[in-house]
Amino acid sequence: MTDEIDYYELLEVQKNASADEIKKSYRKLAMKYHPDRNPGDKEAENKFKAINEAYDVLKDEQKRAAYDRYGKQAFANGGMGGGNPFNGFDFNFSGGGFSDIFSDIFSDFMGGGRNGSRSQAQDGADIRYNLEITLEEAFNGVEKEIKIPTTSVCEKCHGHGTADGKEAPICQNCGGRGKIRVQHGFMIMETTCPNCHGEGHVVKDKCKECNGEGVIHHEKTLKVKIPAGIEDNTRMRIPNEGQSGIRGGDNGDLYVFISIQEHKLFIRDGANLYVRVPISIATAALGGKIEIPDIQGEKIEVNIPAGTQTDQQAKISGEGMTILRSKRRGDLFVQFRVETPTHLTDRQKELLEEFRSLSQNDNCQPEAKGFFDKIKDLFVA
Ligand SMILES: [Zn+2]
Ligand SMILES: [Zn+2]
Repeated sequence: MTDEIDYYELLEVQKNASADEIKKSYRKLAMKYHPDRNPGDKEAENKFKAINEAYDVLKDEQKRAAYDRYGKQAFANGGMGGGNPFNGFDFNFSGGGFSDIFSDIFSDFMGGGRNGSRSQAQDGADIRYNLEITLEEAFNGVEKEIKIPTTSVCEKCHGHGTADGKEAPICQNCGGRGKIRVQHGFMIMETTCPNCHGEGHVVKDKCKECNGEGVIHHEKTLKVKIPAGIEDNTRMRIPNEGQSGIRGGDNGDLYVFISIQEHKLFIRDGANLYVRVPISIATAALGGKIEIPDIQGEKIEVNIPAGTQTDQQAKISGEGMTILRSKRRGDLFVQFRVETPTHLTDRQKELLEEFRSLSQNDNCQPEAKGFFDKIKDLFVA
């Protein structure tokens, strides 16, 4: 489109113009040929594109130097080959090369004016909500009220964010797109327009009700029904309860991430519950009974058989967790741990000494006996 016209001529500056002079001249011309000022004027539009293309090269010291040396050839397809003027620069555009990228910029730029993406429907974002419940709540199922942030269109300004409630003028910096292309060396990145902060419009007198945002932030309360038997780290999706869509876009979804607090007594593994119970050596040897609470707080009597060892467990059928979408329940496992007594009184020591002397050649500790029989042969002397 601008092949035959020199960039300097386009910007109406001398070849030795300073960066400042180029900028000044570009601004003046951009204002003059801006499509907002020349609606429907194809010639002005082309001129506008051309001066932008020229300015994009000349405002960058490195690119301007390359242009001075090689002309537009420096930016054409395949121009990066043998006589690469950009040695030492780290960039790697596959295929298209610069010319494609430029035209891409401008087609975006032009297309994004008044009727660009800003007027299109925009879906609301999903929201994540972390909810911690107790093991008892997971057992019984529970209904929780949660408060989630939400927005609604400001009624005072009809969503325009302006004091007078009318649509704000289009941002001149980005032509209403809300985004601009920025050049970092030879990389072109799209960033939010700093002038309008991505809104595409610049609000001078802000609506006091919404502080110019056009939306009011508030909280909404939702009831979330958590089914009995829910597992730790479950994600529940609640459709349409995320951020509101804009201009007819769909609402996002709400995701409730459920985690279950550690319980004082029970450890859960799927449908089963485990409880560790310390017992004395006397109870372990002689047997006995203990009472423990179940997950609902009811008393359960647990029988400890005589000769119980550490890690031996008693299974209590049907006293475990509820199973999701089922009438059944898992099992409760009582895991015994024999506790060696400490801080003995003289009398206790005396009795244990007596017990030890009576147990010497006895069969009451079969595992120990087997062990000592095994190691007897291993002593050399
Ligand atoms: Zn802008
Ligand atoms: Zn408002």
